[in-house]
Amino acid sequence: MGFVHKPNLCPTCECKKIQGPCQQTRQNRSPWWFWRCSFWSCQTRLPFLNNSAFVGLRLQPKTLVQLILHYASSSLTKVVTRDDLVQAVNVGWQQGQHFLDVLTTQEAEAGELFCKTAVLSRSIECDATGLGRYYVKRTNLLMADQIQQLEDKKKSQCKAYPCHIRLLGLHERGGAFVAAFLRPRVALPKSRPPVEVWDEIRSSGLLDRVSHRGKRALYSDGARAWMTAGKHLGIKCYQVSHQRKEFCRSLSEVDPKLSKKAGTQVIDRKWKALKDFLPSNYHRKINGPHGSQVNPRMRQRVFQFCWRNSLKWPSPAQFLKQLAKLQGKNCSGVSFQGAEK
Ligand SMILES: [Zn+2]
Repeated sequence: MGFVHKPNLCPTCECKKIQGPCQQTRQNRSPWWFWRCSFWSCQTRLPFLNNSAFVGLRLQPKTLVQLILHYASSSLTKVVTRDDLVQAVNVGWQQGQHFLDVLTTQEAEAGELFCKTAVLSRSIECDATGLGRYYVKRTNLLMADQIQQLEDKKKSQCKAYPCHIRLLGLHERGGAFVAAFLRPRVALPKSRPPVEVWDEIRSSGLLDRVSHRGKRALYSDGARAWMTAGKHLGIKCYQVSHQRKEFCRSLSEVDPKLSKKAGTQVIDRKWKALKDFLPSNYHRKINGPHGSQVNPRMRQRVFQFCWRNSLKWPSPAQFLKQLAKLQGKNCSGVSFQGAEK
């Protein structure tokens, strides 16, 4: 299926003739699967998953296939949990977790790559959203600059401050959606997530995703920074004012190739789908060496969502194919047939 590859080279004698997969039956235990070097004086045996992303996972090929099939046929709008896998397939929770970590990492990497390479054109909605907040002590080193600024401004101190996790996104209507994390922002207790500012938008690199050619325009909500972004790109930015309860309005004098509807309806829906995708019982922060910081798993999940979204929510069979494509791009594409036996 493209998930497991025959090794290219014997690590002992460097010969390229590898046989397998072979299996050795063992008394009272499930058989051992391996690849074997076919050079007569070497015969080195390599564990079955040695040349795949699942290296180190001790599973029968049949079980691995069951896991992959269950994973690919699960709903794409939700995260597959370890408990799902343990219940559906007969594996231990540690193996289930290992398996999930491998695929989540691959999906997330593919999503991040997509967000750094996709090109958007025509009618592009732009917005930021909050993905929750966590508390940082006022001694937190990672946020020291922002805390200092806040205290200088307010001339008061708190023991801890809420820190908002924010995501910036661009969505071409009927086209690609890309996202980038902004640096978390410390705010006063009980405040709302801070609005995105021009400096943040510029340094996110997201504007590089906007095509340099053709008809293009930005569609934003009231955040003023997007006007600056439009000027920077040399294109128009159409706004609506959420403060005045204006969410959608018709534009006159728009290029016929561009959308006449102002507003951020498309990206708003995407934010909602993303938030439904993220597990609700999530720990938003972890304790790092310099104080609390955003949980890296949250980042992973967001980019996993972006990747799945870039595939336009495929059928299980198409999704399986896409997952297989992510496997060992540096491996020789020998497909695996042993599992059917
Ligand atoms: Zn060898």
